[in-house]
Amino acid sequence: MFKPEIIYYEKQIENYELGKQLMDKYKNVPKIQIENHNNIEEMRKKSNKEFPQMKKNLIIGTRKTHKFVENHKVSDYLVPYTSSGCTASCLYCYLICNYNKCAYLRLFVNREEMFEKIIKTAETSEKELTFEIGSNSDLILENTITNNLIWTIENFKNTKKGRLTFPTKFDMVDPILPLEHNRRIIIRMSVNPEEIINKVEFGTSRLKGRIEAINKLAEADYKIGILIAPVIFIENWKKLYLELIQQLYSQLNKKAKEQIFFETIFMTYSYIHTKINEEAFPNAIQIFNKELMTGRGRGKYWYKPQIREEGDKFFREKLKEYFPENQILYIV
Ligand code: SF4
Repeated sequence: MFKPEIIYYEKQIENYELGKQLMDKYKNVPKIQIENHNNIEEMRKKSNKEFPQMKKNLIIGTRKTHKFVENHKVSDYLVPYTSSGCTASCLYCYLICNYNKCAYLRLFVNREEMFEKIIKTAETSEKELTFEIGSNSDLILENTITNNLIWTIENFKNTKKGRLTFPTKFDMVDPILPLEHNRRIIIRMSVNPEEIINKVEFGTSRLKGRIEAINKLAEADYKIGILIAPVIFIENWKKLYLELIQQLYSQLNKKAKEQIFFETIFMTYSYIHTKINEEAFPNAIQIFNKELMTGRGRGKYWYKPQIREEGDKFFREKLKEYFPENQILYIV
């Protein structure tokens, strides 16, 4: 259970029910009042090596921007929701590109405003829309602190239109299993070989737990998908990813196998990641590979076309072999 060392909070959170609850829950944790969760000067000034320590803090504020961004994968829109950042430290986490070393967990207590905008958009749309509510945080993790996912699912179940979706790398799904959800929630479990989880995805759930969580969610009749992401082409990647697919094949239950779909995403990386990781995790493995990666503008890197093509072929072949009936939504 995450116990913050210091809470940084905006004064206005006390005007919200959730803000009051969190202040009470953490009444014994030292607190610092801030003007704006987007600009905590003291944090910005910290050195890169303090990144893991900064992840032990919790920032509570209100979300001011509510702009939906069109998306064309599982969802129709990426929606700013109740948190950003998380307590884990995956070496490739894309939030580091956006927030630099300030990719710590922020909670936003004005959940009613965000939720109502989703409902209004869903109900006034001619077509059935899906909203991605976890694009810059992990809602299964966040739920252990706020119960926001329980609140969201319970309030969403009776809407006439719309679906919600989010990815996760955590296995703490038990609190949402008994909820009525009317199959309006699509949960996508992100997986990687255990060796990569151990060496790269610090602070997330183990592979075994994630597979068990998929099975439990399937039994609870949630819609579920599997994200093989991000694929990292380390030396023995074919062996590791084949074992992962075999493990999914042998350990997923019938109900999960009947409905899962796959998304596969190759890792991207950046100059900021390199700088922070070198100083914050000096003993971690190097996941930037200059032989295999190439620049794609603004300090970002992705795998060269040749390795992406090889990866694409490999995943299509192996997924077809073990999961011939399941859809591969995309490999990118
Ligand atoms: S679990 Fe997700 S949000 Fe958290 S550090 Fe890893 S990639 Fe980032």
